[in-house]
Amino acid sequence: TPTAIVCVGMAGSGKTTFMQRINAHLHALKEPPYVINLDPAVRNVPFDSNIDIRDSVNYKEVMKSYNLGPNGGILTSLNLFATKIDQILTLLEKRTTPDPAKPDAKAIKNILVDTPGQIEVFVWSASGSILLDSLASTFPTVIAYIIDTPRTASTSTFMSNMLYACSILYKTKLPMILVFNKTDVKDAEFAKEWMTDFEAFQAALKEEEEAGSFGGVEGGGMGGGSGYMGSLLNSMSLMLEEFYSHLSVVGVSSMTGQGIPEFFEAVAEKAKEFDRDYKPELERRK
Ligand code: GDP
Ligand code: MG
Repeated sequence: TPTAIVCVGMAGSGKTTFMQRINAHLHALKEPPYVINLDPAVRNVPFDSNIDIRDSVNYKEVMKSYNLGPNGGILTSLNLFATKIDQILTLLEKRTTPDPAKPDAKAIKNILVDTPGQIEVFVWSASGSILLDSLASTFPTVIAYIIDTPRTASTSTFMSNMLYACSILYKTKLPMILVFNKTDVKDAEFAKEWMTDFEAFQAALKEEEEAGSFGGVEGGGMGGGSGYMGSLLNSMSLMLEEFYSHLSVVGVSSMTGQGIPEFFEAVAEKAKEFDRDYKPELERRK
């Protein structure tokens, strides 16, 4: 069975560009994936998709006829699309099962899913959950959490991003790969270091604080190790350590293609983990 890779991340983190890159990578390997676009508001999709939410719902019309703003429009479009999930799964199963009439045709190994720019609309909505749960009950499913590396280089944005990733892991209960994107602009080594060595993170925190760049809050830094923020940070470090131990981390550039093979190694590992750890849990929850 193919593995489903669901790309989530903040708007602008590079989900769509990443999708384009991994799609091209798989095509080059002569292993074309099955591609699903769930972003109703995207103007141009830079890759060929097999299923496109825009084919069945018109986001602009939905906004107009229900008198909604952009986020409400995306959410309602996703809701309308989720009502067709049965048809979609049937189609997916059909397309990903080898056709006995065509023994030479290669089986599809990957299903790629792009999600709306606004991460919360997908992760925290009922229809997002329905789509994700249906996918995960049919295929090994992994979450690729895309991170804008250059924009997460300060300790505060880094910490916020990790806590958000942690909440998504908790919500979806699916294996997760952290994809530090845009390494052509900023190398991801600092992030890997902060995730494996908490003292390095604290040192960076202290440095930023001394440089006066910590969120502009005078004397309100987190790295002091004393006071409310200090003790909160120390407790969070324990939680994050546990969280980090469950993740795969890769640095990629969707622009240059750097790191993409490592990403697929992580996918293979997480797909195994899905079968071993997550699937029994999903069965139990049914
Ligand atoms: P999305 O909202 O998460 O789908 O993000 P997009 O894929 O639309 O990308 C947002 C912006 O980041 C675009 O201007 C992309 O060209 C840029 N971008 C995406 N990936 C990379 C990358 O690896 N390197 C650089 N330098 N820019 C990138
Ligand atoms: Mg996008």
